Amino acid sequence: MLSLKDSAVFFQAGDFPMDGGHWCFVGEITSADFFIRPRVIVSDAKSDQTGIVVMWYLDRDLRREAEKLFDQCEVGHTIFILDAAPHGFLDGTSGYRLEGLTEAKIVPASYSKLLKLEKDLRSPSTTCSNNCTGDSTKSLRKCSGCKVATYDSEVCQAEHWKNGHKMDCRAYQDLRQVLEMEDKFENPREAIAFH
Ligand SMILES: [Zn+2]
Ligand SMILES: [Zn+2]
Repeated sequence: MLSLKDSAVFFQAGDFPMDGGHWCFVGEITSADFFIRPRVIVSDAKSDQTGIVVMWYLDRDLRREAEKLFDQCEVGHTIFILDAAPHGFLDGTSGYRLEGLTEAKIVPASYSKLLKLEKDLRSPSTTCSNNCTGDSTKSLRKCSGCKVATYDSEVCQAEHWKNGHKMDCRAYQDLRQVLEMEDKFENPREAIAFH
């Protein structure tokens, strides 16, 4: 499994890979709008650079997909862009111009939260994720969605879901998908895409 800290894969804005393999830009969405096409403004993961424009130039018949994509573009969420190459837009702004739907993935969590979630992916909790004061010797059941959160009762699971796990569950699954692309990043001859 890859790590978000793996600087051979996850690049900051302006950096480029040295060895010709695949790479991935990571940024956090600071604003989003949809005028003709979906557009987000991002800062890179360390917030060294802000005001990076990411715009999707999709075919007209992908209008519905574009709207669905835009629904995910919430401020504070993290965007991963595969093989991101800097682009200068006509209005003088710069960032990344995307031509399809599989180059970028938007994960519903901030970058700093993803660093925490990554830790959980590597070593899932051994106590009830709802932080209840229940019997700690009781056997725990994993959330079937993320397989990270664990619960000692259905009550705790329902409560935790309502109190935010709904969003985190998606984030765990998305993050795992990204981090499990290790082989794909290693093979520069094969195309790389999110599904
Ligand atoms: Zn519990
Ligand atoms: Zn879950």
